[in-house]
Amino acid sequence: MFWADELAARLSGPQIVNDSKTPSGTVHVGSLRGPVILDVMVRALRAQGLPTTLLYGIDDLDPMDAQSLLTPDAVERSMGLPLAHVRDPAGDCHPSYARHFAALFIDTFAGLGIHPDRYYWMSEIYPTGQLDAFIRTALDRAEVVRDIYRAVSHVERPAGWLPVHPICPVCGRVGTTLARDWDGETVAFECLPDLVNWATGCSTTGRLSPFGGAAKLPWNLEWAAQWSLFGVTVEPCGKDLATAGGSRDRSDAIAREVFEREPPLNFPYEFLNIGGRKMSSSKGRGAAAHEIAEVVPPEQLRLLMVRSRPNHAIEFDPDGTDAIPRLFDESDRIAAASAGREVRGELPSDHTRVFAASLVDPGADLVAEGSAYRAPFAHLALLLQVPGADLPARVEAEKGGPLTELEATSLELRAAAARAWLDTYAPERARIEVQRQALPGAAAQLSAEQRRALAAIAVASDHAAWDGESLQTLIFEAAKANGLGAAQVFAALYVAFLGQPNGPRAGWLLASLEKSFVVERLRAASAPDTLPA
Ligand SMILES: [Zn+2]
Repeated sequence: MFWADELAARLSGPQIVNDSKTPSGTVHVGSLRGPVILDVMVRALRAQGLPTTLLYGIDDLDPMDAQSLLTPDAVERSMGLPLAHVRDPAGDCHPSYARHFAALFIDTFAGLGIHPDRYYWMSEIYPTGQLDAFIRTALDRAEVVRDIYRAVSHVERPAGWLPVHPICPVCGRVGTTLARDWDGETVAFECLPDLVNWATGCSTTGRLSPFGGAAKLPWNLEWAAQWSLFGVTVEPCGKDLATAGGSRDRSDAIAREVFEREPPLNFPYEFLNIGGRKMSSSKGRGAAAHEIAEVVPPEQLRLLMVRSRPNHAIEFDPDGTDAIPRLFDESDRIAAASAGREVRGELPSDHTRVFAASLVDPGADLVAEGSAYRAPFAHLALLLQVPGADLPARVEAEKGGPLTELEATSLELRAAAARAWLDTYAPERARIEVQRQALPGAAAQLSAEQRRALAAIAVASDHAAWDGESLQTLIFEAAKANGLGAAQVFAALYVAFLGQPNGPRAGWLLASLEKSFVVERLRAASAPDTLPA
């Protein structure tokens, strides 16, 4: 059974699914695993008839604590401020640092088919007073909170510590303040120069009312307060937060013992590790969430994340490997099998559900999507390197008929992805250059048997259907008829057309070129006068 269906079967009644994120900087593509898992879960709940709402929060009142993206003059001014109050380091494209980096991340959602019903920003929630009751409860039960930190995580808070971070009314920092002495209406606070080593407070002391946006809850309490405020029933979290005695355990205990509510269903998910650090520096294309989409279209990116159960780590290293072409091939196999076609190779047992979960549109017609002709990725990567090749015409020849609108759209996406792959991650062996001007000198090394096979292919291809599959078959037959292994004939073809002993699938290589050129080149390469002296 598909993992999301299994989880959904355990629940009943209306569901509120939630996730939130601190917009502290550029987000690695691995961070998209959470939102994709959430979306798949929401679809599974709705498929079982449960009314379901998806919420996505931005924890933008969290303090600025990493200076890597700030200009030197902004560091002193900005460290320790709420992220919502730090200026956009990229200029004035967004009202704040938080808005800038949150936008980079959530702007990728729609393209991936993730549509939260509501976004919320903690910097907007606090001033409305909706968290005041939770702040009051947390302050009234400060001893219980301290006991939870001690019992769950072995963290000792100093005597008199209060679970609230005032926003300094003088310097505006939230990361540098300490509160004590709750009198039921106000707390005493200090803005300390040395509370943390990443920000310097302004030494102001005084009393303030912690309500209405004047203070924020520490993260673990804020998380539990979100669950109560929004009625959250499902919230998976990353495994970094789900360790024993870790952040999730603390928030679960706070939900139960301080805010007196059962925490939402959790199913921790593992990391998605994407290789390619080399690429990010040498060719300027990293694995940031908003950049990977250029090379891996949404359907394949979703497939990568949904085909494994959430608790399985995913290692994906596209750099200098065939990982991306293989992901496309797997996607094509699952699509074909979902449309009821026989396929070679392994399939997930619940492949139809995996296929549905990989599609951007939850209402897509699975049979129409699965039966659509999908040009093999490796073939597109090859065609793109043949000067003057008419991509749609070649793909129509492979399909054996005109492309539907769906197929034409998918071809555009794939061709763009294949081009981006060739520009970035593709291994050297995937890059070819057809030697159009003259027969490569290396052809002089071909054996008499290889020449005979090439001559046979020249004769047969004159009448052959001009598509990869037919030409591949013809090559195998020519090898057999001349007492050669297929590998030797492939090598002869690569030498004749590329001037190198290896290359992409030979049938498709020939099909990407015009028949007249292929026949002429085969004749030249097979001619005895090019034999070594
Ligand atoms: Zn201050």
